[in-house]
Amino acid sequence: MKPAPFEYHAPDTVAETVALLGEVAPEGGRVLAGGQSLAPAMAFRLARPPHLVDINRIAELGRISATDGVLTVGATARHAAFHDPVAAGPLGALMSAVVRHVAHLPIRTRGTFCGSLAHADPASEWCLVAATLGAEMTARSVAGRRSIPAEQFFEWAMVTALAEDELLVAARLPLLAPDTRWGFCEFSRRAGDYALAMALALFRLKDGAVVEPRIGLGGVEGRPRRCAEAEAALLGRPPDPASLAAAAAAAAATVDPMVDGQADAAYRRELAEVMVLRALQRAAA
Ligand code: FAD
Repeated sequence: MKPAPFEYHAPDTVAETVALLGEVAPEGGRVLAGGQSLAPAMAFRLARPPHLVDINRIAELGRISATDGVLTVGATARHAAFHDPVAAGPLGALMSAVVRHVAHLPIRTRGTFCGSLAHADPASEWCLVAATLGAEMTARSVAGRRSIPAEQFFEWAMVTALAEDELLVAARLPLLAPDTRWGFCEFSRRAGDYALAMALALFRLKDGAVVEPRIGLGGVEGRPRRCAEAEAALLGRPPDPASLAAAAAAAAATVDPMVDGQADAAYRRELAEVMVLRALQRAAA
């Protein structure tokens, strides 16, 4: 099927983009980034935006930089940019491992990191990374600029705190201390499919005990989130099999799993426990 008719705009600057969005967003106009989610939705006529504001001509939005302890990812930085580490240390390595689970290579050459965040699929790997690491999203509109923390940004499946006329200009992620241990685990039916469940775990060790644990779950509930109960179960303990199992069980006990054609609640809960356990085992190894 072909998309419904729309008017195409290709601004050259961020200022022009936000001015345009101020005009066309109230009528349903949308930002076009990589088009890897929006274009199929339009082709199926699940989305019928009367205006598309293509941000791909704006060179500054493609930048990725690591300075002052922060990795800044611009709005048009592609998934494929993360195949090789974009920063020294654990964050670059983590993102380089995670990106291999995002769709397939052709999609990764076009789709964008920030587009994934704005799309807010609960099973998006980048949404999990942003939620677990406490990323900050920078949004701009004619009203000005604001920063939105991840725990407020992801409201529910495909729903974010972005206003309709706001452009997500960049996402800011904290660089990780060199001794940060991390592990990621995802279960999907086929390579490149969206995850049925996935977990990201990070911690450091001080005198053999876990400090600063961060445990995130994605694909299980309507939005990715950190599991406070699992983190509490791990904090201050050695990362031995009993503590890792206790943290995984705590995560599973507190989830309210989504139900869809691929998994019922009991299966997703079990997957959540296994994903957290394996992510923690990888971090501890
Ligand atoms: P677009 O499709 O251009 O936009 C998506 C939505 O976000 C639109 O509503 C758009 O208006 C909005 N938007 C985009 N950028 C901005 C911005 N800067 N400011 C405000 N709004 C914005 N993703 C995964 O995470 N994991 C997977 O396993 C996975 N598998 C896939 C498999 C297939 C077959 C396909 C087609 C896609 C898959 N995807 C997967 C989705 C892919 O990662 C998309 O690239 C991503 O969801 C959206 O990024 P985009 O740049 O293509 O955004």
